[in-house]
Amino acid sequence: MLVVMDNHATKDQIDRVVRVIEEMGYHARPMPGGQRTAVGLVGNDGRVDSSRIEALPGVAEVIHVSKPYKQVSREWKQENTLVRLAPGVVFGGEEIQIIAGPCSVESEHQIVTAARQVRELGATALRGGAFKPRSSPYSFQGMGKRGLELLALARRETGLAIVTEALDEEGAHLVSEYADCIQIGARNMQNYSLLRAAGRLRKPVLLKRGMAATITDLLLSAEYILAEGNEQIILCERGIRSFDTMTRNLLDLTAIPLVQKLSHLPIIADPSHGTGLRDKVTPMARAAIAAGADGIIVEVHPNPEGALSDGAQSLYPEQFGRLVSELRAIANAIGRQVATLPSSGVRDVGTTSVSVG
Ligand code: PEP
Ligand code: MN
Repeated sequence: MLVVMDNHATKDQIDRVVRVIEEMGYHARPMPGGQRTAVGLVGNDGRVDSSRIEALPGVAEVIHVSKPYKQVSREWKQENTLVRLAPGVVFGGEEIQIIAGPCSVESEHQIVTAARQVRELGATALRGGAFKPRSSPYSFQGMGKRGLELLALARRETGLAIVTEALDEEGAHLVSEYADCIQIGARNMQNYSLLRAAGRLRKPVLLKRGMAATITDLLLSAEYILAEGNEQIILCERGIRSFDTMTRNLLDLTAIPLVQKLSHLPIIADPSHGTGLRDKVTPMARAAIAAGADGIIVEVHPNPEGALSDGAQSLYPEQFGRLVSELRAIANAIGRQVATLPSSGVRDVGTTSVSVG
C-alpha cells in the first residue's frame, strides 16, 4: 500500500503517517519525490484497513498495489530506477550499457586481454565468472577468490566496471569487496537467502531470470532484494527452457517490454546464454536493443576455441566490435545512445600485448 501525501504536507504530517503505520505493526518507507512524498507500507499481507490512514491530515490518497510484488512495481514507483555501477555506467536511463567478457576468468593474461579488447571495442563493463554454477561438478568451477583479484586487476587496467557472479551468501560478501555488481545467476534466482543477503549488501545486483521462471517469479525475486532496502537491481532476460533443442534456451524478448511496463527496474538481455550459439548472438543482441532493452551482457573471448566454459557461444573480439557499431545505429533509430567510456588509448586490438605481474 502506498500513502501519497499532498504537495503541501508538512514534515509533522508525514511523520504522523509513519507513526500510525508502525503502530499498526507494519514498516513505513517514506519516499520523497519531486512533487510530493509518498509513504510505502511494507509487510502488507493484503488485509490492511486503510481508513485510519486516509483520515490523517496531509494524506492525498491511498493506493492499494494490486501486484504481488510491491516495491518492484510501477504502481509503487512510476519513474525508472537508475542503477549506477560506476561513473558513466548507469542502467535504466537513455543510454544503453554493454557488459562484455568471457564466461569465466581463466588466467591473468586471458582476463586482462579480454578486458582491453572489449573496452576498446565499446563495452562499459566487464563480465567474467570467478565462481561458476556448472551443471556438472566435474566441469571447471572457476578460479574463486583469485579470479576476483584478477577482475580487480582488469578494472585497474581498463576502468571497466566489474560484473561477476556469487553462488552463495559467503561468495556475495567476497564479490561485493571486489566487484561493482553482484550477478545472481539463473540457477539461483529463487535462492531466497542469497537474494536477501544481496539486498543487505547495498551493491548493485544483476538478477537473471531462472530457466523455468515466469516474469512474475522474476519480479518477486527482485522484491526480496528490494525488501531489504536495496533498489539497485538490473533484471536480465537470459532465455528459458523450451521443448525445442535447436537453441540452448529460448530468449524471451517479450519479457523486455512486459517488464518495463510492470516495473521501474532496468532490464537487459543475455543473447549468449539465450541462444548458446555464436552465430545467433549478434541477431538476438540487435533484436534485444530494438525491443527496448537497457543493455546487453554478452560473452566475448580472446580465443573462444580455448575457453574453459561456453566457448561455443562466445564472440570473437572482431564480431563484438561489429555488433557494437550495429547497436549504436539501432539505438539511434529508437532515440537512445550506446554509452561510451572515454577512449582508453589502447590500440591494435587483435595483437594487444598485456603486461602481466
Ligand atoms: C553466466 O553468466 O556465465 C551464467 C552462468 O549465466 P546464467 O546464470 O544465465 O546461466
Ligand atoms: Mn557462460
